[in-house]
Amino acid sequence: MATTMTATKTQFINGAWQASRMGATREIRDPGNGELVAVVSEATREDARLAIQAARDAFDQGPWRSLPALDRAKLLFKVAEGIRERADELASLEVRSCGKPLAEAEYDVADAANCFEFYGGLATKIHGETMQVPANGISFVVREPIGVCGQIIPWNYPLLMAAWKLGPALAAGNTLVLKPSELTPLTAIELFKILETAGFPPGVVNLITGPGAGAGEELAESPFVDKIAFTGGTVTGRKIVQAATGNLKRATLELGGKNPNIVFENADFEAAVDGALFGAFANQGEVCTAGSRLLVQRSIHRKLVDAMLAKIPRIKLGHGLEAGVKMGPLVSEAHRAKVESYIEIGRNEGARLLCGGRRPADPDLARGWFLEPTIFDDVTPGMRVAREEIFGPVLSVIPFDTEADAIRIANDTEYGLAAGVWTQDITQAHRVVRELRAGITWINTYHPTYNELPWGGYKQSGWGRELGLHGIEAYLEIKQVNVNLDTAPIGWY
Ligand code: NAD
Repeated sequence: MATTMTATKTQFINGAWQASRMGATREIRDPGNGELVAVVSEATREDARLAIQAARDAFDQGPWRSLPALDRAKLLFKVAEGIRERADELASLEVRSCGKPLAEAEYDVADAANCFEFYGGLATKIHGETMQVPANGISFVVREPIGVCGQIIPWNYPLLMAAWKLGPALAAGNTLVLKPSELTPLTAIELFKILETAGFPPGVVNLITGPGAGAGEELAESPFVDKIAFTGGTVTGRKIVQAATGNLKRATLELGGKNPNIVFENADFEAAVDGALFGAFANQGEVCTAGSRLLVQRSIHRKLVDAMLAKIPRIKLGHGLEAGVKMGPLVSEAHRAKVESYIEIGRNEGARLLCGGRRPADPDLARGWFLEPTIFDDVTPGMRVAREEIFGPVLSVIPFDTEADAIRIANDTEYGLAAGVWTQDITQAHRVVRELRAGITWINTYHPTYNELPWGGYKQSGWGRELGLHGIEAYLEIKQVNVNLDTAPIGWY
């Protein structure tokens, strides 16, 4: 297979590639076959502190903040171009680090480039406001960068999540320290090479490659970080919030989900079958918005489940770089064990296992962390497999009778990230979507994601929104400026 990256100076701090201060390293292995792909630096708290200091200096003293927005925009366009020039290489590296099929990785790479372009365009459109006030003066509002941003991302969309974090932060004029997941830092390292070539001033963009313990905690706790932007699990999200209280830093959180995908009896049947499978099994189900709860109207329940089962053999398992593969391995052995434990839980709870629930028999796949696409039927809303985020290829099918039942079951969750509705009745579609407590909703489709639209969840799926116009607001402070047009002293004393 492709070459192994052996350099261990994988951290980009103050414009230079650096190893871990403690000399620690980590092996990154291909989840599809266990092969060594790279050895990277393992960041400690000390590395995080150095990166934060570089970002602090670059924000407080550097030229970045006063650079015209158009210059920031041009740099972001260069990044988009740099990603496109290396698209094939980035896509195959993404496959080898997190396991997804190549077609999905190619989509992510293209979308990451588009994200930098979107925010490059937005950099020059950060507007203020002018207000009438009851005084002889002019009052206006300006938007300014927040300062130093700590950015922590997960392993399921390593390059795309980095783009979602960096694009708006840089367009708004912040400096930053990015920490990818310790499992999947490779495409972020390549992205920072592209940033280096684009020519960002030293200290504006910093990368540390290491775990949440120590390095990640430092980003969340540090009094020198003004904002923490986190994508990951809800349990970790709570820790981030607690750690951020020291200096009351701004926090945005993109967390987990247990998303309902609702199919009504009048849906376009074939489209709903495809949408149910794609919603559940794209990216091995390792998607925060995965439609992991399939709510099906009882009148079509059996027919829909049978049609899904008939298509399951088309979900070809294999290494993501092999032609025709539709589902790759899970990201790690530990994660597969977690997903398998949920399959055991579902069985014990009395859910009916329709397919999967085991590792593939194919000996060629024994070296990777593969698991067959799994469907549990007759799941009831109280079961753990209906309530907890499994984050793997496990779908829970829950039959319902009425529209009111569907809405009640859909909202019966601590999460509120995404939801899908399948019906050909336009009034029903809008009626149901209006009742759903989720930040991302789809009607007669599932999973399309656009840089133009705000991304984020209700309830315990997070705080704030990324992407779109809302995404840049999350990286801006708002300042009011009052200009007195009276020349006489106020004469108060
Ligand atoms: P995770 O919470 O275990 O880790 C996410 C990141 O946080 C990693 O970089 C990790 O090193 C770091 N981290 C862990 N503990 C930390 C701590 N105490 N302090 C600071 N940093 C810490 O999540 P994961 O397993 O990498 O990713 C899966 C989760 O991410 C799922 O719950 C999924 O729903 C969520 N996710 C959400 C979105 C979204 O947009 N809402 C997108 C992708 C993934």
